[in-house]
Amino acid sequence: MNNSSLWIKDLKIKKYKVLNKNINTDILIIGGGLTGLSCAYYLKNSNLNICLVESGYIGMGVSSKTTGKVTYLQETIYTDIEEKTSFDTAKKYFNSQKFAINEIKKIIDTNKIDCNFYKVKSYIFTDNDDDIENIENEKNLLEKFGVKVKKHDSINIKLNSKYAISTDDTYIFHPIKFIYSLKELCEKDNVNIYEQTKIIEIKKKKDNYICYTKNVKIKAKKVIIACHYPFFLKPFFLPLKVHNEKSYVTASIVKDYKDEIFITSKIPTKSIRYHKDNDNYLIYLSNSHNICNSVNYKDNFNKTISEAKKLKLNPKYVWSNEDLITVDKIPYIGRLEENNDNLLIGTGYNTWGMTNSVLAGYILSDIIKGNKNEFEELTNPLRTLNCSGVIVNIGSNLKSIIQNKVSKNKNWYNNIKFETRNGKSVAIYNDGKKEHIVYTTCPHLGCTLIFNEFEKTWDCPCHASRFDIDGKCIKGPSKYNISYKEKD
Ligand SMILES: Cc1cc2nc3c(=O)[nH]c(=O)nc-3n(C[C@H](O)[C@H](O)[C@H](O)COP(=O)(O)OP(=O)(O)OC[C@H]3O[C@@H](n4cnc5c(N)ncnc54)[C@H](O)[C@@H]3O)c2cc1C
Repeated sequence: MNNSSLWIKDLKIKKYKVLNKNINTDILIIGGGLTGLSCAYYLKNSNLNICLVESGYIGMGVSSKTTGKVTYLQETIYTDIEEKTSFDTAKKYFNSQKFAINEIKKIIDTNKIDCNFYKVKSYIFTDNDDDIENIENEKNLLEKFGVKVKKHDSINIKLNSKYAISTDDTYIFHPIKFIYSLKELCEKDNVNIYEQTKIIEIKKKKDNYICYTKNVKIKAKKVIIACHYPFFLKPFFLPLKVHNEKSYVTASIVKDYKDEIFITSKIPTKSIRYHKDNDNYLIYLSNSHNICNSVNYKDNFNKTISEAKKLKLNPKYVWSNEDLITVDKIPYIGRLEENNDNLLIGTGYNTWGMTNSVLAGYILSDIIKGNKNEFEELTNPLRTLNCSGVIVNIGSNLKSIIQNKVSKNKNWYNNIKFETRNGKSVAIYNDGKKEHIVYTTCPHLGCTLIFNEFEKTWDCPCHASRFDIDGKCIKGPSKYNISYKEKD
């Protein structure tokens, strides 16, 4: 079994330069996932000088581990949004998703992108009587938006189902092929791309932003934060406004391909799609949870694998992924500060970032160009949020911090010793060949890290920073590594 995402198999990675000198640019895009590349794509013909920096490698963040569905049928999101805001807001969000799907289609057609983009039928289903009403409500809402929705008493998948609805005009694609094509189009139109270039600080100086890496600085008139979970707290205080949802995914070779995608209505989500290249694959996702709960990651992986096996699948690829869930289920795309068009963000896609990243590119490029955008108000990060949602986020973060502080010696860990060295907690992991020593506190906001024995990483159960076994930060928001140094 391959411990990585299906999308990076057979990938020919073109590596980009590391930024090793100070530069000036009109626009700096921080992050080379689908959000960053979409922003660069929409801005590339604007006569502005554009620079995109990526802390790792282009496309290898959350975007490389998605299930690659391009759909407006997103669990029962319209019911959730209506409940938390209003019918009109739910309808606007629906319009934004339809718009983004059309944009993706247009980008693929115009540029003749080969990314396994296929039309599929989307289903939401449940095997639980208690969820039927929820799905029926989603159906009613979709019909009010003008969508033709079919009802099914049972559906032809390997999972149990008691009730389902389906819609047409939704798609799947190969996310990395799409991102790599955007990257090539941007590069051709003079977007400067740098990899292994991590921004750790942004300071406002007169009319510019100075963005610092460990070694160099970039002076930019405008900055787009497209790095999924930002590395700074102020402005915006994102940890108060999101929580992380983690899921486990398998891909198995199967005989037949089906042009249908499936998802349950509620967390813990189960999701299925197919992918065809030289073989047909069935991608099965399950066991999603708020990252603060269910922190025995090895157990969660094993659960998903054994569920796949029960479905007579033989997983060839297995991976996990996290995304940010917002208080009102609407993304945060727009200005980070009132009346400031120079510091923008695109994040919080509620696990629907294929459409929402492209939407972010469209909205943020319009703000930069000074154009009014029809979805700008809907996704405004500074909109008023429901207090109870914010309190729930704070509560679950605190719970996680306390829980993990008090139970440091996790009894499910193998081959790990905990010690105090130089007054700090360290963990020593012995892989049978050598010892790997790391600090156990996340440099971001001080949460105690959890060893993910399946992927051999140290993961933050509060804000989803991740570190390899030698302590190198492989995913933010942490700006720093946790490698133990003898004389610290
Ligand atoms: C299990 C799972 C399945 C999903 N399936 C779907 C799906 O089927 N359909 C769908 O629409 N959505 C799906 N999503 C959601 C979607 O994958 C994400 O919302 C989307 O990929 C986020 O894209 P991004 O560009 O914002 O983030 P990323 O792809 O993570 O890109 C951000 C980039 O910024 C870089 N970075 C971070 N910090 C810095 C820094 N300080 N300096 C420079 N660079 C930095 C990172 O290395 C990364 O490459 C899924 C999510 C999950 C968790």
